[in-house]
Amino acid sequence: MDLESKIINFERIRQLEDAGDFFGVIDTMKTYGIEDEFISLYAKNVSGLGDKGIDKLRPGGEWYESAVGFISEDEGLFEVMYKDHLTLKRFGVTKEELADRFSEILKKADEGDGVYLGNNRYLIDGKYEVFAAYTCGGQGCPFDDETFSGAIYSIKNIHTGQEVGGLTSISAHLAKEHGFFEGNVAYRFDPEKLIEVLEMDKMYPIKFENPVYYNLAA
Ligand SMILES: [Zn+2]
Repeated sequence: MDLESKIINFERIRQLEDAGDFFGVIDTMKTYGIEDEFISLYAKNVSGLGDKGIDKLRPGGEWYESAVGFISEDEGLFEVMYKDHLTLKRFGVTKEELADRFSEILKKADEGDGVYLGNNRYLIDGKYEVFAAYTCGGQGCPFDDETFSGAIYSIKNIHTGQEVGGLTSISAHLAKEHGFFEGNVAYRFDPEKLIEVLEMDKMYPIKFENPVYYNLAA
């Protein structure tokens, strides 16, 4: 567990979110010295929730197909966004870089630009086994009402055997525009798992404590 996430009183912030007091959440974030860029992103996201507030993200929020919700009953939006924000910082990967990378792979599966392996599976770039299933439903973004076709995906790196699931047609948008990877729900697409599967960990050379590798990475 990261030091920063230990100090923050997530429960207190969750109570403010449940009460719809997003200004209170933002004031609290400032007292923790959280970066302005993150605060702006959070403020943009909550402003899109409208009257439903945080309930719009919870299971049964009846937002398009999302009966399963975007966060679980016992989570808040801030904690989900902030923990993933820290994870990305720890690996030195931006949300844009990560979203662009996985959406590029999923797009190739959508377009059949790979080797079809049968059973909705495609081999992309000779390295990623992508499962892609298309549904007739759609999914709207809870923060701005943009809509996306219904598709679910998983990506397996056949070299390492690592696999990440929970990806849908809205995932890249949520990651890139909202810094949101969903909470402890069916369609969470864990950024740490994605970084691992896509081998995007920029800290990787530093693990060897080799100054030559370190300089190459800089
Ligand atoms: Zn959106």
